[in-house]
Amino acid sequence: MTADENRDLEAEVRAYVGREVSAPKRGKDDVNLAMIRHWTEVTGDENPVYHDPEFAAKSSKGGIIAPPTMLQIWSMEGYSMCQEPELDVQRELHKVFDAHGYVGVLGTNTVTEFYRDLRPGDQVTAHTVIDNISERKTTGRGVGYFIETVTKFTDQSGADIGRQVFRVLKFKPNAETAEAKTSTAGAAAEKPALPTRIQAPRGHDNAWWWEAIDQGKLMIQRCKGCGSLRHPPRPMCGKCNSTAWDAIESSLDGEVYSFTELHYPKFPGYPYPLLCAVVQLREGTRLIANLAGCAPEQVFIGMKVKGKVERVDDKTMLPNFYPA
Ligand SMILES: [Zn+2]
Repeated sequence: MTADENRDLEAEVRAYVGREVSAPKRGKDDVNLAMIRHWTEVTGDENPVYHDPEFAAKSSKGGIIAPPTMLQIWSMEGYSMCQEPELDVQRELHKVFDAHGYVGVLGTNTVTEFYRDLRPGDQVTAHTVIDNISERKTTGRGVGYFIETVTKFTDQSGADIGRQVFRVLKFKPNAETAEAKTSTAGAAAEKPALPTRIQAPRGHDNAWWWEAIDQGKLMIQRCKGCGSLRHPPRPMCGKCNSTAWDAIESSLDGEVYSFTELHYPKFPGYPYPLLCAVVQLREGTRLIANLAGCAPEQVFIGMKVKGKVERVDDKTMLPNFYPA
């Protein structure tokens, strides 16, 4: 893309800043007990102030409230947005980016403020504006722009009840990025590295496992109390509750217990077709890993596989499983 084309795109998209995404959206349902119950069941939040009227009445809240994190839920479009969603200003803006090759979209972060508790019967209306579009940025996912929307939530009396900032990255996925890398026009300053896979979070309980992978070894955690094997790594044995453990190295022999082919969304840094399998290891534990060296139509449940811990990109070692 030339500098002129960038200027055209930027002039076009900057005209969207400050615009309302749509007319204010009143939630389809007012705050209600059934939706609160569904939400707390799904999230596993057992706080009785969300469902027990007697407890809630005696609590500092003085009655049942909705979980604050449901704020955005009340005014969401629901499943209709999966069909043919209305073309609002935000979707229109995304189409402008799409037309210039910035077809990738990645939610990056969201910040929400809550001003008061919501109670059954409250009505929530969302007012969303395109608040900001960043300068062009070079990121690990590709070259792109951060778009920030700000949603103000109001109640039945028009009072503010919360505010949410939502940030997405609209970017050019890897092929376009590679093009930008070799382009001489205006792209000299941006030489993004080829995208790598999303890195697995390494915490207190699983860092050792990933460090072994980095050394080319697939380990299986073993309980020192009862000898049972477990995966993924965790601090306590589910059979005998012992927290003492060591690990054995896997033979990498196994078979396909289940598998799927991932089609969408296509992430930069991943090879397609992308086959993900639950592999039953000879040792007895299972793990999720990619299948390699075979076409999707060749894979079947029960297929014998052999693993190989190998480098898949600049940053990542992973066990891949091949037909045995
Ligand atoms: Zn045990």
